[in-house]
Amino acid sequence: MVKDKRRPDFEFANEKVRAGERYTFNLEVPDLYTHTGLSIPVHVVHGKRAGPVLFLSGAVHGDEINGVEIIRRVLESPRLAAMNGTLLAVPVVNIFGFLNQVRYLPDRRDLNRSFPGSDSGSLARRMADLFVTQIVARCTHGIDIHTAAIHRDNLPQIRAVLDDPETEQMARAFELPVILNTQIIGGSLRETAEKYGVQVLVYEAGEALRFDEWSIQCGVRGIISVMQSIGMLRKRAPRRKVKPPFVAQRSIWIRAPQSGIHRTLLTLGAEVRKGQVLGYISDPLGYHETAVISTTEGIVIGRTTIPLITEGEALFHIASFEESTSEIAEVLDASLQQASDVELRPSQKRTL
Ligand SMILES: [Zn+2]
Repeated sequence: MVKDKRRPDFEFANEKVRAGERYTFNLEVPDLYTHTGLSIPVHVVHGKRAGPVLFLSGAVHGDEINGVEIIRRVLESPRLAAMNGTLLAVPVVNIFGFLNQVRYLPDRRDLNRSFPGSDSGSLARRMADLFVTQIVARCTHGIDIHTAAIHRDNLPQIRAVLDDPETEQMARAFELPVILNTQIIGGSLRETAEKYGVQVLVYEAGEALRFDEWSIQCGVRGIISVMQSIGMLRKRAPRRKVKPPFVAQRSIWIRAPQSGIHRTLLTLGAEVRKGQVLGYISDPLGYHETAVISTTEGIVIGRTTIPLITEGEALFHIASFEESTSEIAEVLDASLQQASDVELRPSQKRTL
């Protein structure tokens, strides 16, 4: 008897995807209050040969849309035709927030604090439960794509717990200059995924409600590079020499010493010395002015973009490294310079 050596189908939402094929599913979520039906698109690429099962998630916070474009570009890569394993791409997880252009769900809850969720809890918990049971539980690896919250901007960075050697390998494979070795936030997708034994990275880059080309290009390149590292795609000889990443063990926010109008010249990736003036905050006429002074040395990995500030608000997110901050700032500047201009091209035609 000849044994069928074809890789088994991938079963999803009562359908099957054959090895070597790809398919888009619509995962139903609760209706809008108009009774209009709503669903989350999930694109499954089921490789011809066995391998890891990787999820890519975007817009878990509904207004963080860089990930939507990153996932679209990854799905266009012709290299997926020769992929091992299975890719589950979910560009818009929080469809409610995405429609309303806000971070939260209509019940004002944060989806990324509602995991693992439950099938009978709040809307946020139901959405979390759906994502966990349908996507996370099927996977071995995951990359969750975020941006800074509204009116903030983030330097492209990987956030991961580096105690786990496999996660560390994945984090380094993303080939970004900066990794933040962070603690896991309670109720986050990352926390639940790790309980399921799924290796997860969080990629943070750019602003809410904006596309940022540097962040998008770093994200697409990083995901392809991680897919090579975990054996989903064949490794290619590197076209450029990649420096090993700098790992920050801690980071702090410099907060506003008083309310007022904030002026700064500091950009993402800039180096900061302890005691340095980072900006000035004054009343609208400039009578009562206070300097914003850094209490630490490091690199600016996040900043507020709105000048209208209330005392105590977070202004600059500064990461501390063991390596020389000047060297890191130079590497970051080179990375920014490497980002090419956007090419406006039509999407590839796909049947489903
Ligand atoms: Zn987020």
